[in-house]
Amino acid sequence: MAVLYVVATPIGNLEDISPRGLRILQEVGLIAAEDTRHTRKLLQRYQIETRLIAYHEHNKLARLNTILLALANGDDVALVSDAGTPAISDPGYELVGAVIEAGFVVVPIPGPSAVITGLSASGLPTDRFYYLGFPPRRSKERCALFSEVVDIPATLVLYEAPHRICESLADALSVLGDRPAAVARELTKLHEQFVRGTLSELLAHFNATEPRGEFVLMIGGATRPAKRKPSSTSTNELGVAVTTD
Ligand code: SAM
Repeated sequence: MAVLYVVATPIGNLEDISPRGLRILQEVGLIAAEDTRHTRKLLQRYQIETRLIAYHEHNKLARLNTILLALANGDDVALVSDAGTPAISDPGYELVGAVIEAGFVVVPIPGPSAVITGLSASGLPTDRFYYLGFPPRRSKERCALFSEVVDIPATLVLYEAPHRICESLADALSVLGDRPAAVARELTKLHEQFVRGTLSELLAHFNATEPRGEFVLMIGGATRPAKRKPSSTSTNELGVAVTTD
């Protein structure tokens, strides 16, 4: 049975694609790419000549039938996005759902994703994290989002555009308080940078520079309240209820 492969591609450094990912891109009958020009650069680097079609936010419904038809004809298909793992803040999940629904097999080919790459070197707790994708563009909705997650005891992870990083840091600071945080910029690229500190320190840093490139913002989670022993109630020798904490 034909397979849809969900193939992770580099988030900057073209060396960061797995040998298995390259083999799959070479062997499938069709690659559905978010931007064919972008993916062609990766394919050219590795001399891969597989047929490419565009699969992006604006044609994803129309393209669904083309991809289902290719699978029905017995052709394996690879889905890639411009960078990182498809379907993670990128087109893909509707296609994966439809392909599963149609009875075909979906196989993920793991590789880079900015959320995991940033977290892994952030220095913040990674045992629990809560991925928020891109926060809303308007401050009011962004603050509402931060209010929703204010009590979550997990590191919060967001993607943000360079021209909005300061506004997002300011809103996070006002709603969440001055928590430890980290910004990962231009991961795997020439100007890769981690800025670690509290939200107010990060805000001061980026207010003093002209933020450029791609950003992952990570913010420490709510600190858990100290564990209380469950209180127990008993009666003393006079028959009076006594509660101990
Ligand atoms: N699917 C991708 C993934 O798995 O990471 C994410 C795609 S999303 C449309 C693009 C956003 O991811 C960027 O705006 C930025 O916030 C983040 N990102 C992607 N590459 C990055 C990099 N090299 N360094 C830092 N952030 C990056």
